Amino acid sequence: MSRIAYVNGQYVPQNQAMVHIEDRGYQFADGIYEVCVVVGGRYWDMEGHLARMQRSLEELQMTSPMDMRALKVVMAEVVRRNRLKDALVYMQVTRGVAPRNHAFPPEGTQPSLVITARRFNFDQSDEKAKKGVAVISQPDIRWGRVDIKTVGLLPNALAKEAATKAGAAEALLVRDGMVTECSSSNAWIVDETGAIITHPKTNEILGGITRQTAIACAEELQIKVIERPFTLEEAKAAPEAFLTSATSFVMPIISIDGAQIGAGKPGPVALRLREAYKARASRG
Ligand code: PMP
Repeated sequence: MSRIAYVNGQYVPQNQAMVHIEDRGYQFADGIYEVCVVVGGRYWDMEGHLARMQRSLEELQMTSPMDMRALKVVMAEVVRRNRLKDALVYMQVTRGVAPRNHAFPPEGTQPSLVITARRFNFDQSDEKAKKGVAVISQPDIRWGRVDIKTVGLLPNALAKEAATKAGAAEALLVRDGMVTECSSSNAWIVDETGAIITHPKTNEILGGITRQTAIACAEELQIKVIERPFTLEEAKAAPEAFLTSATSFVMPIISIDGAQIGAGKPGPVALRLREAYKARASRG
């Protein structure tokens, strides 16, 4: 069965789905996106993802292709048509199609909306978390507004490719000696007291929805949360490190640039937080 995609008002077999060559997403990366996870037919953290999507649109003065209620209906329909119980739903909005010109197209230009879904392997994610992942460091060469979730992801793709080539799962991005986040996730360390540390929510990181939920979980578990930048050296010397994202939840880090973190296996704080995140996210 071919996967079904939603493209500008129509549900089409994904191998026949097309966008225009003068779509501004294609020519200028003038678009934003969101990724949500569905587990057992239920969306995790959906309201958070939709709120961030709205914010990304507003920050770029982009019109929403439809209201959020209608969007939820289309998302559910894409999942249904693909017969998925556990899914990754990808949504992308661009400023639409117009003759190539850097300045915005005329008012009233219809934004483009694409929604796709694919199977999400929940068990595989848990297996991976039991072992933990290796990461490497890479320079953070991104622009100054990475808090907006744009499709302009070339620096992130370069960093991820470097990680993949090194046999690692992720790249920790470093700017002025400080770890900002990872190429597609937020970065955390644990200190000697068991407190968890992550970069504050500024223009230098994407405010992860999982990050936000993980903070709420930590508070519930009475784990102290410190939002401050940390250095790469501090991360390498930390008793534990982990990353968060909608698709990896809370994922323990076991090495950075080949240097073992803690005991070289997933740490207790990360594992506790992962369980708490799963329990909380599945409540909706
Ligand atoms: N930072 C970056 C650069 C990302 O691409 C992502 C994943 N979209 C995240 C952080 C984590 O965000 P979330 O928890 O909302 O998936």
